[in-house]
Amino acid sequence: EFTTVPVSLGERSYDILIGPGLIARAGEEIARRLKGARAAIVTDENVAGHYLDALMESLKSAGIAATPVIVAPGEKSKGFATLEIVTNAVLAARLERGDAVIALGGGVIGDLAGFVAGIVRRGMNFIQMPTSLLAQVDSSVGGKTGINTAYGKNLVGVFHQPQLVLADTDALDTLSPREFRAGYAEVAKYGLIDQPEFFAWLEANWKQVFAGGSERIDAIAISCRAKAAVVARDERENGDRALLNLGHTFGHALETATGYDSSRLVHGEAVSIGMALAHRFSAHMNLASPDDAARVEAHLKAVGLPVSISGIPGSLPPAEKLMDYIAQDKKVARGALTFILTQGIGQAFIAKDVPFSAVLGFLQGK
Ligand code: NAD
Ligand code: ZN
Repeated sequence: EFTTVPVSLGERSYDILIGPGLIARAGEEIARRLKGARAAIVTDENVAGHYLDALMESLKSAGIAATPVIVAPGEKSKGFATLEIVTNAVLAARLERGDAVIALGGGVIGDLAGFVAGIVRRGMNFIQMPTSLLAQVDSSVGGKTGINTAYGKNLVGVFHQPQLVLADTDALDTLSPREFRAGYAEVAKYGLIDQPEFFAWLEANWKQVFAGGSERIDAIAISCRAKAAVVARDERENGDRALLNLGHTFGHALETATGYDSSRLVHGEAVSIGMALAHRFSAHMNLASPDDAARVEAHLKAVGLPVSISGIPGSLPPAEKLMDYIAQDKKVARGALTFILTQGIGQAFIAKDVPFSAVLGFLQGK
């Protein structure tokens, strides 16, 4: 009674299992793939309170000895200080290359634990157990791992693919409504990139997706298939994978501008505003119809996501400052930006030479 989505990467291929009850089944599924392995479970305080005991129990029944490593929740744990603590905990447990690091939590835990698994003993086995919607549809799939630095987000890391992703959809029941909505922005993103029929389905079925049940599992599986397909085509982001950054150029600038203060803005909310802006900017450049931009905005608004910069609490820097942040976001060359723009719903494309001045002019008009 769970859905399997394969990620095809030659001999490094792996499965994403999606469905209810997967935390209780984890021991069995992991033991089958990694015979004789021991494990460290990296998790945060919130998630540990709900699911750590059940996972420990499941691993124990499957004969897997596991050491828990619990960090503080939030983006601040994705940094050098926590990296050192988790690395030392894995070494203190005397885990070897054939043993596993298990990430039990949201994208922060997945990125941090995956990075530890990628660098300890030059690469250990790694299992993703995403518990937030964002992690189930996006960050747990595809092998990007890493931490933030004083110079920006995700600037230190490695590509390190997991051996297995176990997305227990029951875990989403304890996620806050705000975090669920934020993850939903990345679900809508897959429709907006290249699946207009999925976007239309979401417009009709989003209430059921939020309520739980089979529509929710379907939306997660469709999202994972979309991500898996892009990753299989372009594992290291030399081309197509950049489409997954739709909404993220504006979004990352807004996250930087709000100092990663989750009381003001979380990643998925920033992506929601960024996607609305990317569609409006595309219409402004006469690439897409204003009706499509309005439709995107209406849907994101309907689910309760923010769609404009003025919807962010507190004061924000002027357009010029936001442009500085955009310029730091690694995609700039000689006065032009690489931007994910669109010709309409489900027709996103990589625009390589968007003039800096056009983006600035657009933001000044906001
Ligand atoms: P998160 O890990 O901080 O989780 C959000 C909050 O929800 C946290 O407070 C967490 O404790 C809590 N939580 C998680 N699961 C829960 C559950 N089942 N019940 C109750 N509470 C729960 O953040 P996130 O939104 O999951 O992920 C954001 C991170 O993911 C960012 O750092 C972003 O850069 C990264 N990311 C990485 C990739 C990638 O490809 N590696 C892709 C997208 C995003
Ligand atoms: Zn994202």
